[in-house]
Amino acid sequence: MALFEARDIQIHYQTSKGIVHALNGISFDVDKGEAFGIVGESGSGKTSLALGLLRLLPRNVEHYAGSLGLGGEDIMNLPENEFRMKIRWKKISMVFQGAMNSLNPVMRVGNQITEPLREGKVPKKDAHDRAVRMLELVGLSGDIFARYPHELSGGMKQRVVIAMALVQDPQLIILDEPTSALDVSIQAQIMNLLKRLKWEKKLSMIFITHDIALASDICDRLGVIYAGEMVETGSLEDVLQRPKHPYTQALLASTPRLHGETKPSFIPGIPPSLIAMPDGCKFRERCPYAFEPCDKTVPVFATSKNQKVQCWLYGDIHG
Ligand code: SF4
Repeated sequence: MALFEARDIQIHYQTSKGIVHALNGISFDVDKGEAFGIVGESGSGKTSLALGLLRLLPRNVEHYAGSLGLGGEDIMNLPENEFRMKIRWKKISMVFQGAMNSLNPVMRVGNQITEPLREGKVPKKDAHDRAVRMLELVGLSGDIFARYPHELSGGMKQRVVIAMALVQDPQLIILDEPTSALDVSIQAQIMNLLKRLKWEKKLSMIFITHDIALASDICDRLGVIYAGEMVETGSLEDVLQRPKHPYTQALLASTPRLHGETKPSFIPGIPPSLIAMPDGCKFRERCPYAFEPCDKTVPVFATSKNQKVQCWLYGDIHG
């Protein structure tokens, strides 16, 4: 049994322009110690998914459905109070996109790390000692405890944010574009840290990014998301070496390579409006293989034991 199961997650928002269909039936599993990557362009629904998994959605949510399981327990239907007391930050934690810029500038970083422990009535000395251990775990000196955010570099602040996410010893951590605000050398340091944590702590991760190359550095499996749908899932090797969905193929072709002469190609067109969603395949306006059945409902086809693709090219169009 997987550690974490998300099934048919749907999130729609009410806006002044109409209903935004941000997520339209996303399903995936994460095993213990596994990093599952969710990859897609901006606006594809990645951050809505991250917030939905922690049940932290904004007030204008019009529809939120599906099921969430952790260790075999249904956590979707837990009362909010119970979810907050037992699950959020404790068993499932998150590093938000740009979180290092949201550290409280007038509070010592150590106190920001111990805050949830103190709220949970952990004695002050125990909370302090745990925060120091977390700082050391993420490669910082315990002396950082007494510093203020403006005294730290971007890479150090991102390590602090990761320490904050780990301080309650979660089973699963959601990382939403965890290196996006960092320059390339610091990005590599943070990726090495995350790989070490995954290995040493057997930490399960959901790694959300627009950068499929970055995801390939740490993930065991990938899910490719487009216009609020998971169009392909599979092992890292299957998705990178044998991509099935035309969008995955285009995403890979658009990724710059260090070796070889192949230049990256851009994906033509733009994603569909999430307010006026087209019927059938959401990628068909940009797909070079679109054919007659693609404007109908798109089913999910399993193309191998571990790889799934949502595309008419891989199924019986009359089935
Ligand atoms: Fe292209 Fe049709 Fe497959 Fe969509 S279902 S990706 S339009 S071939």
